Amino acid sequence: MINVTRSSIPSMEEYIKEISSIWESKWLTNMGEKHQALEKGLKEYLNTPNVTLFTNGHLALENVLSALKLEGEVITTPFTFASTTHAIVRNGLTPVFCDVDPVTCTMDVNKIESLITDKTCAIVPVHVYGNICDVEAIEKIAKEHNLKVIYDGAHAFGETYKGENVANFGDATMFSFHATKVFNTVEGGAVTYNNSDLTDTLNYVKNFGIPGEDRIVFAGGNAKMSEFHAAMGVCNLRHIDEYIEGRRIVAERYIENLSGVEGMCVWQKQKDVKHNFAYMPVIFDGCKYTRDEAAEKLAENDIKARKYFYPIMNDCECYGRNAESTPTAKYISDRVLTLPLYPDLSLDIVDKICEIITH
Ligand SMILES: *Cc1c(COP(=O)(O)O)cnc(C)c1O
Repeated sequence: MINVTRSSIPSMEEYIKEISSIWESKWLTNMGEKHQALEKGLKEYLNTPNVTLFTNGHLALENVLSALKLEGEVITTPFTFASTTHAIVRNGLTPVFCDVDPVTCTMDVNKIESLITDKTCAIVPVHVYGNICDVEAIEKIAKEHNLKVIYDGAHAFGETYKGENVANFGDATMFSFHATKVFNTVEGGAVTYNNSDLTDTLNYVKNFGIPGEDRIVFAGGNAKMSEFHAAMGVCNLRHIDEYIEGRRIVAERYIENLSGVEGMCVWQKQKDVKHNFAYMPVIFDGCKYTRDEAAEKLAENDIKARKYFYPIMNDCECYGRNAESTPTAKYISDRVLTLPLYPDLSLDIVDKICEIITH
């Protein structure tokens, strides 16, 4: 069985060595030694001034939206994982869906301004598939209208645009370290941000609103990363460049095999971007098989591809079916399939997958 992804993990020996000091400290969570080591390592790797860790990417986003004390409407993309929209709604904010660019599938910056009202407080774009949003245009719009920008960077770990790490764009960026992501801590996530004043707030928001002994200042939940999760992150961070290089080789093979196939639009690199090769989305638009037929054919061969993202967030039971307002997102969602991609996926299997979906 070939799955759409497979988790990257260090050797068992390396992980055991990393966690052995926990048996001496008996310190399991609440910002211990591993937690501090991972935050430090991530600041260096991402070349960013502030990193705060969380239990998972979803709570990282939910908590940073709380910490920024937002109210009103948030312009976001429907072409994302449920988490992005849920994090907005669970903060009592109203999501306003903006259509996406047909090539990058990120928010169409030409459609943002017409959605701004006097209630708009923020923009939450997604670097979907590791495609970097038009960060320059978004920054300009946000400045003009005095809006916060919080990026969902769950797909964009380690990427740079014009040499600048994605962690440094907007007011904050969320990363997911879920088992299926390019960099994982089993479950985990982080927020990066330029304004150091946010650190204390994020730290009490994720710890029941308790900033220190004898004070409770906010109705926060619990979103702290444990030492065992942080230790997995410390190990995986040592290997992240190997993981990304492994993904690159697989991704290049897909591009080589599928570019030029009529009616098929395979993921392409963006200019000025150092990619992490997180996903391999392919749009089936008038080629031999439809998306659903291709998924079916792969399944018959024990290969699991994913309709990622289908349905889109304004076309599901939870947020009502209103996808006509974002026709490009709907169009892509009906035709896209993400193919298996992970560092040690063999090129023979990549060739076989390409053969199955084109013949
Ligand atoms: C994975 C993901 C999340 C949620 O992250 P978790 O760590 O699983 O909570 C949010 N947004 C996007 C786009 C994702 O892919």
